[in-house]
Amino acid sequence: MPKPCTRCLLKDYSKEVYDRLIVEGLKALPAEDIADSDVTALRLGVCQACEKLNQGTCLACGCYVEIRAALKTGKCPYSKW
Ligand code: SF4
Repeated sequence: MPKPCTRCLLKDYSKEVYDRLIVEGLKALPAEDIADSDVTALRLGVCQACEKLNQGTCLACGCYVEIRAALKTGKCPYSKW
C-alpha cells in the first residue's frame, strides 16, 4: 500500500482500489446518471483543495468523492460544488 496522502484522490493513491471501487462502481450505474467528465473534473479539483479530503474519501459524508462527483445529482455536503 502506498504512503497515506490526505489530498490524493483514490486514483492517485491506489490504482487497484480505484479500478475496483470507482471504475466498476460507476459502470454499474445507468449512463444517464453520470455527469459530464469536465463537470466531474471541476468538482474533483475543488475536493483536492478541501481539508475534508482524505485519500479519496470525504470526511464530511464518508463517500468516495470520485463517485459522488461523477453523479449528475451529486452534491458536496458543504455546498462547495
Ligand atoms: S465533497 Fe465537499 S466537503 Fe467533501 S471533500 Fe469534496 S469539497 Fe470537501
